[in-house]
Amino acid sequence: VVPFERPAGPSPRHRTVGVRVGSVMVGGGAPIVVQSMTNTDTADVDATVAQVAALARAGSELVRITVDRDEAAAAVPKIRERLDRLGVTVPLVGDFHYIGHQLLADHPACAEALDKYRINPGNVGFKEKKDRQFGAIVELAIKHDKAVRIGANWGSLDQELLTHLMNENAASAKPREMRWVTREAMIQSALLSAARAEEIGLGRDRIILSAKVSAVQDLIAVYQELARRSDYAIHLGLTEAGMGTKGIVASSAAIGILLQEGIGDTIRYSLTPEPGGDRTLEVKTAQELLQTMGFRTFVPLVAACPGCGRTTSSVFQELARDIQNWISTSMPEWRRTYPGVENLNVAVMGCIVNGPGESKHANIGISLPGTGEQPAAPVFIDGKKAMTLRGPTLAQDFQALVLDYIRK
Ligand code: SF4
Repeated sequence: VVPFERPAGPSPRHRTVGVRVGSVMVGGGAPIVVQSMTNTDTADVDATVAQVAALARAGSELVRITVDRDEAAAAVPKIRERLDRLGVTVPLVGDFHYIGHQLLADHPACAEALDKYRINPGNVGFKEKKDRQFGAIVELAIKHDKAVRIGANWGSLDQELLTHLMNENAASAKPREMRWVTREAMIQSALLSAARAEEIGLGRDRIILSAKVSAVQDLIAVYQELARRSDYAIHLGLTEAGMGTKGIVASSAAIGILLQEGIGDTIRYSLTPEPGGDRTLEVKTAQELLQTMGFRTFVPLVAACPGCGRTTSSVFQELARDIQNWISTSMPEWRRTYPGVENLNVAVMGCIVNGPGESKHANIGISLPGTGEQPAAPVFIDGKKAMTLRGPTLAQDFQALVLDYIRK
């Protein structure tokens, strides 16, 4: 027998220079930061304040807002002020495209209220104009002591750079190989822009890089290379991830693999919400990824089996759902009352096959009776069978036991 010696866990974190964004550290060994972005019109102060507050309360540690025109820029300081009054201190990131240099220069209160400026090097202009406009934003970041994210994006790639690389490689690369040239253009766009920002005088401890792509394998390749070539703090995210399970699965696959390789200091799930859907889903999903991979803890984890032909009654599914919902709604209060509660593991299992075993691995677990089993549900606390529940109040009784465990 060959002993299984390989330690479980991710590769050591890629070493990056830490960047302070308001009160939050990104990179430099700090915990991986969860962030998100509003989809309200920033000029609508009420709607934007409400959504930023909801995202922050759901656990978003940075929130990005679109700053696309004068009205939006003028609203930013009002949004900051209203959030402060509500006690929502989450740092705000301004998302700028095309005319960021103008908006930041014309609205100094906006430039001051934001904690980070996102620049897209693909749409700040061409040639001398690009240099001037990019330089103007960087100078304003230096003046206001703000962090900058240089965010290259597959959908708005620096065409000048792409054309240059295409021409340079046209002789050697076959047309179907040109995809790697596009990936290279993404990497170079981010790195050359960062180098230019440093040349202008922005410290490396004020620069975060991202190079977002919408295809999983491309994204992994681009970020691996970005990390290999630099020590800038890294913002990870699959752009245009899509709706529903597709967006969640694709983002989790890409971000999860990179995090496992030690790459990534802050993550965002760019999920397309259902019309009128819950924007905070992207925050909860990001938290769940970090927690299930063991990077951070946010809420107690509920392990539940999928159920099968041995769980034909609905008792098991209902209990698993009720416990999950109860924990989610109780967390804001529990976090204040019971420090460390987020480390709790609860198991809700459907039958005797894996129920007792899995329940023993949890802090507290219950193994419900499957079809044909005795109508009794053993409860395991800290790995030992503590009691057996039965009867119509079984769900409430188990809930009371979980709360008792948390209190103790
Ligand atoms: Fe089915 Fe039991 Fe396994 Fe759950 S633990 S999936 S009920 S066999």
